[in-house]
Amino acid sequence: MLAIGMVRGKSGVHAFDLPKPEISQTDEVLVQVQEVGVDGTDFNMIKHNLQDIAEGHDEIVMGHEMVGVVEAVGRKVKSVAPGDTVVMTVRRGCGQCQPCLHNQSDMCMTGLYTERGIHKRDGFFTEFVVDQEQYVVKVPADLVKLAVFTEPLSIAEKGVEQIRLIQSRLPWACEHPDHTFSSSDWGRCRTALVIGAGPLGILATALLRLAEVHTYVADIVPEDSPKAHLIKHMGANYIDTRNKIPKEIVDFCCSTSGNVDIMFEASGAASTAIELINYMSRSSIYIMTGIPREEFVLQVDAAQLVRQIVRYNQVVVGSVNSNRSHFEMALKDIPAINSRFGGMLEEMITHRFKLEDYQKIFTLSDPKQIKTVVDV
Ligand SMILES: [Zn+2]
Ligand SMILES: [Zn+2]
Repeated sequence: MLAIGMVRGKSGVHAFDLPKPEISQTDEVLVQVQEVGVDGTDFNMIKHNLQDIAEGHDEIVMGHEMVGVVEAVGRKVKSVAPGDTVVMTVRRGCGQCQPCLHNQSDMCMTGLYTERGIHKRDGFFTEFVVDQEQYVVKVPADLVKLAVFTEPLSIAEKGVEQIRLIQSRLPWACEHPDHTFSSSDWGRCRTALVIGAGPLGILATALLRLAEVHTYVADIVPEDSPKAHLIKHMGANYIDTRNKIPKEIVDFCCSTSGNVDIMFEASGAASTAIELINYMSRSSIYIMTGIPREEFVLQVDAAQLVRQIVRYNQVVVGSVNSNRSHFEMALKDIPAINSRFGGMLEEMITHRFKLEDYQKIFTLSDPKQIKTVVDV
C-alpha cells in the first residue's frame, strides 16, 4: 500500500510501499484511513529536514491528525466495531512511567515515548493502520465530517484544561462566585491574548470564546486575511502585530479590563514568546504550546524577570501533545464550536489533496492557507 513520509538520508517528502498491516493481538484495531490533516509540525519536518526515524528503519510515514473507518477488530475489543468512524491519538507511552501506564503519555516522565508520524513511529499518511484499542476513539456518526479537527482541537483542549486546573488556585479572581475557573462559566470576566492565528491559535480561540473569555488574537497577517476573518467571526479581536512591539500588544488587550488573565502562545516565535512574559498581569497564567525550530539568542534582565514572576504569582507553563481524555473533550466541543460559530470549522479547511498528490501538499504557497486535509 502507498505510504508518504521521510526517507533516511534524503530531504523532502517521498512515497514508498508498505505491506498492509494485520491484527496480531486481541486488543488491536485495523483502521482504513480516510482523511489526515496537515499542520505546522508536518511542514517544519520537511522544511527543516527533522528526520526522527526509529533505529533499524529507513523511513517514517508522516501524518498525525487522522480519521478512519474500522475494518476489523481483535477478539477483546469492545468500544469500536467494523464500520465505525474513529480517530487515533498520537503518542505511544514508554511503558515504564506511571502516566504512560495510565494512558497519559502526554505527561511521560522518561521521554521514551514515540509519536505516530512525528517521533520514531509511523503515522497515518497511508491506507491502513493497526493500533491498540486504548488509542482509538469512536467518532459519533454526526461528527464524521469534522472529525479531522479532533487531534488539533485536543491540543487546545489540553492547554485550556491546564489553565483551568492551575488557575483554580484563584477562587476569588472576580466578584462573581460562579465564575471560578472550575465552573462552567469560568471564562466570564476574563481576558486572554492568543499569540498566533494558525489552526491551533484559532481552535484555542474557539474554546476561549465558547467559555465567553474576552479574547484578543495576535498574528502578522493583514486585517482582511481569512485568518483574521475567522477570529472576528468568533467575537474575538484580531491584532495585526507587524508594526507593534509586545508592550503595545498587551496594552491594547488591557484597554478594556486592565488585565490579561491568560496568554496562550501558539506561534512558536521564540523572541515574542519570551518578551511577552515581561507584560504578564498579576496572578496570570501564560501557556506555551508553540515549538520554535530555529536558534534564537536573547538578552534578558534575569533579575527583573525572576522578581516579577515571584512578586506577581505568575505561572508560565508548557503544554505538549494530548491524551485520550482530550480527544473525548474535543469530540464534545466540535459540534458546539461549529453551531455557535456557524460552520467555521468547515471554513478552516482551505485546501484538499489526494494522497498521491503528496508533493503538492508541501510545496503549496498560498497566503490564504489555513488547514490542508489529505484524502486517502
Ligand atoms: Zn512514560
Ligand atoms: Zn465574574
